Formats: sequence, C-alpha cells, structure tokens
Amino acid sequence: MVTAVEPIKLIPASQRRGAFDAYGRQMNYLRISLTDRCNFRCVYCMPATGMIFQPRDELLTDDELIRLVGIFAQVGFRKIRLTGGEPTIRPHLIDIVREIKKLPGIEELSMTTNGLLLSRIAHDLKAAGLDRVNISFDTLDPVKFKFMTRGGRFDLVWQGLEAAQDAGLTPIKINSVVLRGHNDHEVGDLAALTIDRPWQMRFLEIMPMEGVGPVYDESLVTSEETKALLEDRFGPLVPISANPGDPAVVWKIPGSAGEIGFISPISAPFCSTCNRVRLAADGKLRLCLLRNDELDMRDMMRAGASDAELERLVRGGIWRKPWGHGVADGDVDTGRGMSQIGG
Ligand code: SAM
Repeated sequence: MVTAVEPIKLIPASQRRGAFDAYGRQMNYLRISLTDRCNFRCVYCMPATGMIFQPRDELLTDDELIRLVGIFAQVGFRKIRLTGGEPTIRPHLIDIVREIKKLPGIEELSMTTNGLLLSRIAHDLKAAGLDRVNISFDTLDPVKFKFMTRGGRFDLVWQGLEAAQDAGLTPIKINSVVLRGHNDHEVGDLAALTIDRPWQMRFLEIMPMEGVGPVYDESLVTSEETKALLEDRFGPLVPISANPGDPAVVWKIPGSAGEIGFISPISAPFCSTCNRVRLAADGKLRLCLLRNDELDMRDMMRAGASDAELERLVRGGIWRKPWGHGVADGDVDTGRGMSQIGG
C-alpha cells in the first residue's frame, strides 16, 4: 500500500516571522548569556577548578547588547530569554530588561536564574518588563544543595522563588538536572511541589558540555527512568499538550495544580523543532548548543558594521544552522561549557 506523503506547508512570506534555516526551521527565540560568571559552581555545569572567565572588555557592553537584540527583533525574533552564567549578577540588569522590553516586536522576555538574588530584585524586574522566570534547583535538601552547587544556600533560593511568585513572574518553571547518585532519589519530592502549586517542574537530562564529561558519563538519568520513578509513587501521569517550540514533554500528576516537564536532549532529541539560537556574553552567535559553530557579532560590530550588515550576518548564520547535535555518534565537541554559552 502506498502511504500518502504529507505535503510541505509553505508559510506565505507575509506571515513569516523570524529567520529560516536551510531545513525550513523558523528561528524566533534568542537566549542571551548576560555573563559567563556565576555565584554557584553546579557539579553538572562547571568543573570544580580551572574555570577561566572572560575579561570584561571582551563582553558586550549594555549598548552593544541592546543594539544586537534590536537587530534580532528586526529579523523577526519574538521571544528573548536572559541567562548565563548567572544573569542576576550582571550590572544594570533592570535597565537591560527595560530596554529589551521596549524594542518593537519583542513579545516575551523571560529569565533563567539560580534564584539566589531574586528576593531582592523580583519586583523591580517585573516592573521593568520581565514576564517570567525559570528557577534552577536540583534538590530540596539544604546539605545536598550546598554540595551540588558547591556552596549555595537553598533557603535564599526558596525566598527568591517566593518573591518571584509574589511579583507575578509567572508561570514559574523549576529546572532540575537529574543525576544518578546525587538527586535521582528526590525526583518524587520535587514533583510533589506541583500538587498544590501552579509550577512546572522540569526534569532535564544532563548534557556532556565542556568540563563536565565525567559527570555526564557517570550520572546520566534518562527521562524515561525519571518518569518511571514518578509513576511508581504517583501512579500514571496524565499527558498535557505543550506549547509549540517548547522542548519539554509535559505531564501532570492527576488532580495537581502544576505540571511536570521532561527535557530529553540525549534520549529523545528535539532538534527537528528547534526554534532558538544563543548569543554568548562575548557576542558570539551560537547556532546549536551542542555544536561548536559560532559567528562573531561583537568584532563585526566593533569594526563598524551597519545594522543592515549585522542583519545579513544573523540571517546567513541561521541559514547554516546545523541540523542537530551528534551526541549519539560520540560527537561532543561543544568547545565551551554551559555557563559560557548560556544554558
Ligand atoms: N545560572 C542560571 C541558572 O542556574 O539557572 C542560568 C544559567 S544555567 C547554565 C541554565 C540552565 O542550564 C540551568 O537550569 C541548569 O540546570 C542547566 N544546565 C547547566 N549545565 C547543564 C548540563 N550539563 N546539562 C543540562 N542542563 C544543564
């Protein structure tokens, strides 16, 4: 029997938003690393020693950053996420948020943070135009937390989470990287947070970024394993339809207020629906998180490139975005760590 092939749906030029790569994927989501520095040293993100941070004059200035985001908005990017390193330690963060939110075309501005400093600035961030936050923590046990972050304080992060809720930086999503022998026994307690709270608990598979290869080799827990652990405790989870472009596959505990997302870059890559590129703190445009293929926007800008030339650079880069990562083939030349690229 001949199976009908679904015709390719071409998007009319008038409805096209964002730039397209050679595979027809539409890019409209920019993740920006505001700094490569961080006030934690999470075991899956940075090596214990040997991190070298970039000199400040190599990082984009605030004006350069806002100019570049304006170019992306011009190209058709609609969603921006601020990340790092730790974005809350970037000087002038509130002003940066305000300026980005003013740019024509930007529809959603969010931030991924470890939450440590959030209780001080959540309301100012909201007033400046930040829509919502993802907060990262991997355990509810303060001792374990200190160990996994190499020195962090869970009580302050929890205060940051409450401040974000109070300020309306919602819906709140919580990111947890599940590591065998570290926090895999805690996924049930983390998921239980969603029973009474309208949060999305997101369980991530560890990726083999630069500097954390041995942790990846020893500790990867697949989403399937995590989900089985949750179903042992809560019974079958109920599927929820996720937003298009969201890498999470979303479920919920029956009757709960919140949701549970699984992000599975290793066991179930979502490269075919990728809609994002990353701008590192030093102005390199990173086309794929797990491929060491970058364009230097900072040097071109500092050499006097016009907006039109920068726009062409963005469109050209996106056109040659790699199809996907090669982890399954042992191709893990990421070149930089997650904190340097912007997770
Ligand atoms: N400092 C902020 C934070 O902690 O959320 C933002 C930067 S951090 C690099 C962004 C996200 O990347 C966090 O949710 C973290 O859990 C995740 N991450 C870091 N290293 C990772 C790795 N090797 N594999 C998977 N996720 C990772």
